This record gives sequence, structure tokens and C-alpha cells, in this order.
Amino acid sequence: MAKCSKCGSKAVIKVPYARMNLCERHFIEYFEGRVAATIERYGLLKEGDSVLVAVSGGKDSVALLSALAVVASELRLKVMPLHMHLGLGVYSDESLRVVKEVSRKLGMNTFILSLKGVVGAAIPELSAKSSRPPCAVCGLVKRYVLNAAAIEWGVDAVATGHHIDDLAPYALKNLLLGDMEAALKLAPVTAGEEGYLARRVRPLYEVTERECLTYAIVKGLPFVKTSCPNVFLGGMDALIRKFLYELDLRHPGVKLRFMRSLAKIAAKSLASQARVQTELTRCRYCGLPSRSEVCGFCRLTERALGSPAGPKVREALRSIRVSSR
Ligand SMILES: [Zn+2]
Ligand SMILES: [Zn+2]
Repeated sequence: MAKCSKCGSKAVIKVPYARMNLCERHFIEYFEGRVAATIERYGLLKEGDSVLVAVSGGKDSVALLSALAVVASELRLKVMPLHMHLGLGVYSDESLRVVKEVSRKLGMNTFILSLKGVVGAAIPELSAKSSRPPCAVCGLVKRYVLNAAAIEWGVDAVATGHHIDDLAPYALKNLLLGDMEAALKLAPVTAGEEGYLARRVRPLYEVTERECLTYAIVKGLPFVKTSCPNVFLGGMDALIRKFLYELDLRHPGVKLRFMRSLAKIAAKSLASQARVQTELTRCRYCGLPSRSEVCGFCRLTERALGSPAGPKVREALRSIRVSSR
């Protein structure tokens, strides 16, 4: 059994690109330090910021919340966890149970939003009635509600638990397909606009999926072990994932260098990010960002439920008294 490179006790993980084996204690220190360093390196959050954290109950979001709780005390951040109950049967019920347990463990107050409650229908119903695949509906709804909550509650940023193994395959895929704009959106931070579009940050940008899993386990954090019943990786996505995984095994750190250069390009093209945003307009119904006259969420809900739910969702969120200061 390998020994910890720092203290010589039993190692629980090998971190190839850092050329280290680490024990439980030193890995926890390493992981939390890495999240803090990512926040600093890319200027994700500044002292005193309020940050809305999307917590699904999976290992990644749970690891994010726990690491942020540690960083928060140093940076005096106001961490506001938010969980959406999506109405996906036992999967959603189990997720909610886990999120409540994690929140208790970390001493945090998590906002629970039921989709059925705020929208009037859960994912399966929205998917069936709009004849759109559940994953597409789920992604759209989550992005919309998260942004709307951030706007209504006046938070400084929204943090999501995407790690390098979520982001790198999509970045590479977009580059291969020639969609630079989509690739640049996978940067550690995307700019927001006051009262309209929330600033989005990804504090797990430089950690791997395996590190999130190990961190959640050694920290003794509960997390949902099954994956979403609807998840499906298309042929190309699966191939790119496998390629990146094998490439990084043979050349440790190459994935990280790739994502760091992407972040650099994204930061340089901040001007072009502004340009991209001016291509967005305000939805006729809800006033939130949209590529056409009606935003994707209002279009979806109008089709599925007969009327656009955007304004109703914003009002429901506004009525929840939240202090972001
Ligand atoms: Zn050690
Ligand atoms: Zn809308």
C-alpha cells in the first residue's frame, strides 16, 4: 500500500499530475486548498460575496458545498445552498433526503424548491406534454430556476459542481465541432448582468471526478449513489470521455493544461463575451435572458401547460424572503 507523500501514513489516493500519494487528512487539505486556489486564480468570488450553490445531492455538489463551507470562513462568503426537487420519483425523494442530511451535517440552511410547487408540474409531466426528452427539459428548467432565484434574491454569483471531467469532454467536443462560443462558456466563470443574468462560477474547475468522490467519502458526506434515471451519453460524448481519460492516464496533467488554456482564452475574450450577451434579448413574458422573443423556459411551459410559467416562477421566488447580505 502506498504511503502519504506528506506524512508517511496510509495513502487513500494517488494524485498523478501532482505526483503525490495522500492520506485522508492530507487529501482533504489538498482538495479544499485546490478549491480555494481555483477561486483565487480565476477571481471567482471576492471577500463578502453571497453565492447561491446548486446542490443536487450527488457527490460533486455535496463535495462543492463542503469545500465552500471551509473556504467561506476565510473569505467571509455567504453560502446559500439551493436544492430543486425535480419530481423524478424515488430518485428525487432520495436526493432530497440526502441534501437535508448533508445540510444538517454542515450546519447549513438549504432552500428547498419543489418544481411541482413553483412551476405547477414536474419534469416527467413537462417532458411528456412538450414531447421533448427529459434531459433537455431538466437542464433547461434547472438553469432557468437557478438564474431566476439568483436574480430575485440578489446574490453575487451562482456556483455549480461541474468538475474537470464534466467540462473537458464538452469543451473538446465543441472545439472539434467548431463551436468556439460554446467551448468558451465552459470557462471557470461566465459574466453576468445586474438584474438579468447571474454570474456563474465553477469552483471545482480544476478537480477531477475521482477526487470529488474520494473527498465525499473521506469527509463522511452522504451523497446519492445512483445516477439520474434519465441520464444517457451519446456515442460521441462517450468516446471523447474515454479518449480524455486514457490520454490523461498516460500524460498526467494534459487535461488540466487544456482547460487552463481554455480559461485563458475565455478571459481574454471577455469583450467577446459581452458581444455574445448583446445577442441575448429579454423574454417578452418573464424579462429574463432569451435568444428570441420568448425564452426557452416560457416556450416550454407554454407548450406543456398552456401558459408561460416564467412570470409565476419569478413571483414565487420573490415571495420567499431571502437575505443575501
Ligand atoms: Zn498524510
Ligand atoms: Zn421567459
